[in-house]
Amino acid sequence: KSNEAGWNLDNSYAQLPEKLFTRTMPTPAAAPKVVLFNQELAEDLGLNAELLQGEASAGVFVGNDCPEGADPLAQAYAGHQFGYFNRLGDGRAILLGEQITPDGERVDVQLKGAGRTPYSRGGDGRAALGPMLREYIISEAMHALQIPTTRSLAITLTGEDILRETRLPGAVLTRTAASHLRVGTFQFAAQWGSNEELKALADYAIKRHYPQLENEENRYLSLLEEVIKTQAELISKWQLVGFIHGVMNTDNMTISGETIDYGPCAFMDVYSPNTVFSSIDSEGRYAYGNQPVIGGWNLARLAESLLLLIHDEDETALELAQEKISGYMDLYKKNWLNGMRMKLGLFHAEQEDEELINRLLLLMEKYQADYTNTFLALTFTKTDNTALFTSKEFEEWHKLWQDRLGRQTETKAQAEEQMRKANPAVIPRNHRVEEALEAAVEHGDYTVMEKLLEVLSQPYAHTAEQVEYAKLPVSRGPYQTFCG
Ligand code: AMP
Ligand code: MG
Ligand code: MG
Repeated sequence: KSNEAGWNLDNSYAQLPEKLFTRTMPTPAAAPKVVLFNQELAEDLGLNAELLQGEASAGVFVGNDCPEGADPLAQAYAGHQFGYFNRLGDGRAILLGEQITPDGERVDVQLKGAGRTPYSRGGDGRAALGPMLREYIISEAMHALQIPTTRSLAITLTGEDILRETRLPGAVLTRTAASHLRVGTFQFAAQWGSNEELKALADYAIKRHYPQLENEENRYLSLLEEVIKTQAELISKWQLVGFIHGVMNTDNMTISGETIDYGPCAFMDVYSPNTVFSSIDSEGRYAYGNQPVIGGWNLARLAESLLLLIHDEDETALELAQEKISGYMDLYKKNWLNGMRMKLGLFHAEQEDEELINRLLLLMEKYQADYTNTFLALTFTKTDNTALFTSKEFEEWHKLWQDRLGRQTETKAQAEEQMRKANPAVIPRNHRVEEALEAAVEHGDYTVMEKLLEVLSQPYAHTAEQVEYAKLPVSRGPYQTFCG
């Protein structure tokens, strides 16, 4: 039966020191029913999509049935939450193991909302359908935008209501990831583990994500360097599409460089570095414009956790780590600048590019222009009569940009082609996401969501249909997100 479904599970995490996890079985659910299934992802994982989305298999996705090779566990971790250090762990997620794909990759399969674990403390270990669907939509949109992310394989109703402010349908998200190793996993090991346990974790991370480092002279310093590199890339990609994570706690930053935890995230519409959507981020710690800095702050926490492994002498370790950390912002900046150049159709670097870019952003902010749609208008020379495009300042900027384009050997057509690839036709607009969630949760109608997922699956296709989904709502109040 297991083989028929294509499961090829191992759980290498369970071989790590026991302090790092607790074997935990999912809590059985009354009446599991798959309501969303990611066929393409299932096939990439080597799973039998047809069989798995059927009724007989729904039990697997809520943890009622255990696929062969699974070794269910909850991971221990710690984390700085809004700057405050806490001991944490999977409070409602259970890792089944790693699916070995036909390509030989190891992919974590985790059930989010599968019941209480020893790390739950408060909370029921369950998840509401709405937030799980939201994670499915946005994580899959991120993947389509070519941004590294955990993926969503399935949403399965548990058949039980959960109690929040009201009664809500409960659901489990089957999440896949390169791994669920976080900065907070290292913080946990550094704080509560022995040196050997910390070392085992670091060696595991290297083996799993950066095997090329295994023979490096100081592989733990190299590990830090690689995570810095991959996070500098990731966060630059967020900034380029206007993604606001919303809860960049150190337990929500991966070692693999994938985006994780889609609780309160949302995409920025009107450009403003101060944009915050999360209801609990009252001080704007995780505001759009603050994300790169917070990334650096989180990486410094990783560096601290690795100090003991980096060098026997504290001072030397600190010096070595600090040198790596101090390189982060430049790396981030370089990635961001290159990405912005692509968004503006520029093929090589000029000294004044940063100023040209920042001037445009300042104008967007001043005239409250939509971030995504401004770049689209520039791509397709479809500037309209909105405040930004009719301003004198924009006219001046536009001339500078045209002059800049004229100084490169590439043609206007080549520039446009590059801009089409760098400027998405659609992002998950907040009102579109809400509309899809409402239809599904309130009325059991998944067609709105299926359509949205389809439109979001090819953000660089620039189809006529996507124009409709790029539009802003007719009227909009302030948008607020919740941790779910
Ligand atoms: P997050 O803010 O999503 O990173 O979650 C922080 C911690 O809260 C994690 O350890 C979660 O597992 C835990 N948590 C969130 N929701 C629940 C819940 N309903 N039941 C138990 N634990 C939860
Ligand atoms: Mg989290
Ligand atoms: Mg969360």
